[in-house]
This record gives sequence, C-alpha cells and structure tokens, in this order.
Amino acid sequence: MTQYTETTGAVDELETPYELTALDRCDACGAQAYIRVVVASGELLFCAHHGRKHQEKLSQIAHSWHDESSKLLADDRS
Ligand SMILES: [Zn+2]
Repeated sequence: MTQYTETTGAVDELETPYELTALDRCDACGAQAYIRVVVASGELLFCAHHGRKHQEKLSQIAHSWHDESSKLLADDRS
C-alpha cells in the first residue's frame, strides 16, 4: 500500500485506515470480525451482527468505531 502523507507524527494514526482481516474474530461469537471498537480498556471486535447489536450501548463509551461491514456485502460474491 502506498500512502503519501504530508503531515507526519501526531495525525498519523488517524490517517491510517485500520484493516480487519480474516484472523480478526468477533468477541461474542467467533465469526469473522468486521467492526472494531476502541474503548478505554482496550479494543473489541465484533461481527456485523454483534456490532449492530451492541452499537447503541458501546457508542457511548467508544473512543473510535471502525466499521467494515460494508465489505461484507461487497465481498459476498463467491
Ligand atoms: Zn458475532
């Protein structure tokens, strides 16, 4: 992946898109994770189903919410 970033340092982490892989598993059911939630105590991974299920509660404490569940639809071809 080639990325051109004009600013370095502080904003780097925000600029870098986090990619979930097939190795990332839902904390609730063990399915492939498509949603990553960063909370004060660490990070949580959820499948699309459990991400939605917990979204309302977690969004109040989440520092960041990363949702790749749209990929699920895009990839659903094979
Ligand atoms: Zn799940």
